[in-house]
Amino acid sequence: MLIVMKTAATEEQVRAVCERVEALGLRAHPMPGATRTAIGITGNKSDIETGTFDEMLGVQEVIHVSKAYKLVSREVKGETTVVRFPSAGATIGGNEVAVIAGPCAIESREQAFAAAERIARAGAKFFRGGAYKPRTSPYAFQGLGEEGLRIMADIRDHFGLAIVTEAVDNESLDLVEKYADMIQIGARNMQNFSLLKRAGRSRTPVLLKRGMSATLDEFLMAAEYIMSEGNYNVVLCERGVRTFADHTRNTLDLSVVPAVQRLSHLPIIVDPSHGTGKRNKVTPLSRAAVAVGADGLIVEVHPDPEKAMSDGAQSLYPDQFDQLMYEVRQIAAVLGRSVASPVAQPAVPAATTAR
Ligand code: PEP
Ligand code: MN
Repeated sequence: MLIVMKTAATEEQVRAVCERVEALGLRAHPMPGATRTAIGITGNKSDIETGTFDEMLGVQEVIHVSKAYKLVSREVKGETTVVRFPSAGATIGGNEVAVIAGPCAIESREQAFAAAERIARAGAKFFRGGAYKPRTSPYAFQGLGEEGLRIMADIRDHFGLAIVTEAVDNESLDLVEKYADMIQIGARNMQNFSLLKRAGRSRTPVLLKRGMSATLDEFLMAAEYIMSEGNYNVVLCERGVRTFADHTRNTLDLSVVPAVQRLSHLPIIVDPSHGTGKRNKVTPLSRAAVAVGADGLIVEVHPDPEKAMSDGAQSLYPDQFDQLMYEVRQIAAVLGRSVASPVAQPAVPAATTAR
């Protein structure tokens, strides 16, 4: 159920409605919008008497939400959510198309700083890198763990980039949350419900990747798990699904972007690196993703892809990333959106130097 407040409703009136919801043993999720606040209600097993709220001060309307997903739904919030990263001067879901770039895994301080320097120069505002890697083989490189997180925190201090990194379980999430600006939940964990709930109890924004065989409904329900625990800063990510096609690692399902946007207010970005598995297809699919209306891209870039410890074949050379940024900037402009410009010298706070 959803309670739509009047445009002129006061904060006290919103609070009073939330308190009445909680008094019924249910959970209230106030969602401020551009013109009015809507309050989502979860936890009810059956319909709630609408009369309980109809007559309260400031209430405009009480409506039953027809979809299984409620908090992620556009019925609850008409305008697209904008997730903000003030320290990096960045947003996801706003007019600027966000670009997240970096190596698949943090391998060393030198490798990570070399990648970050080029990424910041190209104009991207987010740095990605795995400290905990979900690998198909238990014998493959599993990531540097907390040391990798420390390196990324230093990258944030040095270049002003927002840090996006994956948590593979509740234990790593405790650490990721301490160091990162955004918690990535990987494709293999899209239906790890205890991890989704733990991410929902965090106040750090979450990047939720689509499972490799997840339907649109399953994808949105996974996001609903996070939001139902109170974390409303969720960004969805299409990263390719399993099909019979074997010319690419996965089949990048770009049609899910407008499908999500029709049903949900959450921003959606695209990962053309895992989506294709091949370097030569990353830039064309990035162009397509921006053209289809994605709110951002997440791209793997490595200073020396031939020596990468994971996903080298799909990692761009830094020069290729410069070219990608140049091309998507022009496509974004056609749609009235923007991609940040290259910077001659990435911001380096005076007190910090590369270690
Ligand atoms: C990654 O981003 O490096 C990754 C492992 O992605 P996914 O979960 O989409 O496979
Ligand atoms: Mn990878």
